[in-house]
Amino acid sequence: MSISGKFKQIKTFADIVVSPKTLVVFDIDDTVIGYKEFSHTYFGDRLQHYKERYDCSKMILDFALDDWITKVKTGTPFHMDKNGYTRLINTIHETDSHYMFMTARNPLFRDTTEDHLEKIGIINRQVHYLAGANKGEFLKNIIKKYPQYDKLIFIDDMEKNLNDLHLAFGNKIDLYHFVKKYSI
Ligand SMILES: [Mg+2]
Repeated sequence: MSISGKFKQIKTFADIVVSPKTLVVFDIDDTVIGYKEFSHTYFGDRLQHYKERYDCSKMILDFALDDWITKVKTGTPFHMDKNGYTRLINTIHETDSHYMFMTARNPLFRDTTEDHLEKIGIINRQVHYLAGANKGEFLKNIIKKYPQYDKLIFIDDMEKNLNDLHLAFGNKIDLYHFVKKYSI
């Protein structure tokens, strides 16, 4: 468990416990997809780079995002945890559960994202593109379409997103912090 006890740290999706009729929501970047050419710190490093040069937070974010998108478009995706993922998806099917992806990526980036998911073997998928919107608030709206599911699981590598989900759902959601890191 994390220090706060709000979420559980995992290095493989195989450690996730799924009850019957659960809606499982995955983040994408550094949760299912990693890139061979750059590490999970790349975006943060670019933010820092521009913070040291500019004062305007919108400019800093836009520049860092541009750099990141350029990298991703030419990047080689790999699956962060193929074996654990396969086991989890099997469990999801066996428990009459359902899964989807929720990414901070912009919907304009859909083609590249779908292509990269396919390259790592994720074919049947449902992806919500939030363009940086709050994941907790977004999921609150989405789950209205899924009244048949009793439980909710969310998996993300970023504590900020997990905290947003905790604020939105409290103990009505099981939060998993995916902490598997890789080096290039
Ligand atoms: Mg992520």
